[in-house]
Amino acid sequence: MSSKSLPSIDICEIRPRTGRHTAIDVGSFPKNERSDVYVPMYERATGNRMSVPFIVARGAKDGPVLGITAALHGNELNGIRIIHHVLRNLDLSKLSGTLLCVPIVNIPGFNAGSRYFTDGLDLNTIFPGKSDGQPAEQYARAFASSFLPSIDCLLDLHTASEGRLNTFYVRTDWLDERTRELAICADPSIILHSPKHGGGTLRNAARRRGIPAITIEAGNPSVFQGKMVIEGETAVLNIMVLLGMLKGVVNSSSRPVICDSSKWLRTTGGGILETTFKLGERVEKKQLLAVTRDAFDRKLQEYYAPSDGIVIGKAAYPVAIPGTRFCHLGSIGEPKLLKPKKRQTK
Ligand SMILES: [Zn+2]
Repeated sequence: MSSKSLPSIDICEIRPRTGRHTAIDVGSFPKNERSDVYVPMYERATGNRMSVPFIVARGAKDGPVLGITAALHGNELNGIRIIHHVLRNLDLSKLSGTLLCVPIVNIPGFNAGSRYFTDGLDLNTIFPGKSDGQPAEQYARAFASSFLPSIDCLLDLHTASEGRLNTFYVRTDWLDERTRELAICADPSIILHSPKHGGGTLRNAARRRGIPAITIEAGNPSVFQGKMVIEGETAVLNIMVLLGMLKGVVNSSSRPVICDSSKWLRTTGGGILETTFKLGERVEKKQLLAVTRDAFDRKLQEYYAPSDGIVIGKAAYPVAIPGTRFCHLGSIGEPKLLKPKKRQTK
């Protein structure tokens, strides 16, 4: 029996056993080469290290470091394949700068097929984490300290959460010129203005360090979707052109619909849910969106659009209890800067 031998993968010892995590030194890796390393991040109950896979793909020429993360929610898989495809097809001799990719950020969640960290917390609500905090907070802190200081720009790849379906869309701060440009170059069908300065997302932790960052939401959880992977790969390559890392032109196929906000519509009763709209559909105020029926097929309730909008995401699971999210509705329109209120003079 013969098997093709796999290339060796280094363990990158970038921190002492106890104490602070230091950032990965991208400049210490060879140019015009891809280096695959496991970075020790956290300790298991058995006392041995839990490591996170980092890929340092350095081009032949100098340039920015583009950070790309996936599976921060452990069951959101399309981003892993987007990273793999970009790297498979990349000619490093033509690259100016470096891709620093982390295809699986949440190792325990990925192993368990779960969105969450071991302790049940959502990592993407607690960045930049705490060195003396809860388990997920310490993991988030270790990851942020190892990764964020090394990058100039961040693309954080996600999908819908369990039981929901997403279009290919981007969350960004539309009012920030740098992140607006990144979002447009990603060429999604929808761009959702999502500033959330106080949120604990990795994107906001990057922004607090002055690193422009966007979140790319590519389809559905727990599956690989070819179309989403192709769209994601195009997004990454376009952004590399924008940043001057690759020569070429931005490959734009659609004009994204800009949403200044969005809200999830929820059921107010239980029942078997039947939706009457499609992902990406523009809906009008008072349009019928969903119907619930009981176990005898009797109609219970109808749900109508509260306003005009575009469908960003929807429920996949057709069983509702009161409060079930069934339609993620974007409000179409460019966000505007709020003017400061004039002081009243007496
Ligand atoms: Zn996610």
